[in-house]
Amino acid sequence: MAIIAFIGLGNMGSGMAANLVKAGHEVRAFDLSATALAHAVESGAKAAKSTADAVSGAAAVVTMLPAGKHVRAVYAGDVFPNAAPGTLFLDCSTIDVDSARFVGKAAVDQGFRFVDAPVSGGVAAAAAGTLTFMVGGAEADFAVAEPILQAMGKAILHAGDTGAGQAAKICNNMLLGITMIGTCEAFALAEKLGLDQQKFFDISSKASGQSWSMTSYCPVAGPMPGTPANHDYKPGFATGMMLKDLKLAQDAAQASGASTPLGAQAEALYAMFGNLGGQDLDFSAIYKMLNGSWKA
Ligand code: NAD
Repeated sequence: MAIIAFIGLGNMGSGMAANLVKAGHEVRAFDLSATALAHAVESGAKAAKSTADAVSGAAAVVTMLPAGKHVRAVYAGDVFPNAAPGTLFLDCSTIDVDSARFVGKAAVDQGFRFVDAPVSGGVAAAAAGTLTFMVGGAEADFAVAEPILQAMGKAILHAGDTGAGQAAKICNNMLLGITMIGTCEAFALAEKLGLDQQKFFDISSKASGQSWSMTSYCPVAGPMPGTPANHDYKPGFATGMMLKDLKLAQDAAQASGASTPLGAQAEALYAMFGNLGGQDLDFSAIYKMLNGSWKA
């Protein structure tokens, strides 16, 4: 078992760090928020005084931070100068591909190992240790990262070189945003046509309209008792998070010259729903805007 520094113990990081502790690792935690840090300590992590303190003497460093600018600043500012040569860095944050490649190259150039390893699955999956990791990095670095990630996830998938994990994540979530909106529109039309929602679910989930948004995360209450639609759209995966990922996808599409008209439309619709007050609700709550029942 290893000494692992964990930086960023928010909604996702706290559950992930707790699972590393459960797997027998010594977790040295740091977060700018004293509340987040205290929560991690309750789960068995040791509080570090700073990122530098957490990283010193660690065999691996996991970061779970809000965005690319935080990841760039934390690695350049405190991780690189304090890590031992050969230390493995696992950035599990969802960030832009360029930042992942920039930080990954800087790490490798200085004699460290680096993988970008963003996750699919929300706060519940982080707590349960059932995340899916999409990993970018050299084969040899993936091999070292895999057993650490296994303590926090149920599927560890190697996507390719550095940045490929982030590319897979934003392409996947762009598709998710599009299929969720499409599924919500289909339910809204079914409702107007007088079609029973349960009947439509039973048919579409076995017909060609089937998708994860329909059969694992149904956006209307009833057909699948466990989904956020049955719990006042408590996230789950919040609209604000989906919007962040759709913006990353659109930035990447523009930078790479890819044509993603439906991705652009999904971003616009989620931005509208956020502005109407849906920001903190689960992203499947966009159903209420699309069927006309949303009241801000
Ligand atoms: P969060 O805001 O709850 O947690 C981020 C934590 O990072 C905060 O506690 C903050 O204090 C800390 N932090 C920020 N800058 C720091 C610094 N310089 N040093 C130390 N700590 C610092 O966010 P979250 O929901 O846990 O998400 C984290 C990442 O995971 C994001 O990139 C997000 O896009 C991604 N993600 C989130 C979800 C989700 O459902 N919440 C799902 C998949 C992926």
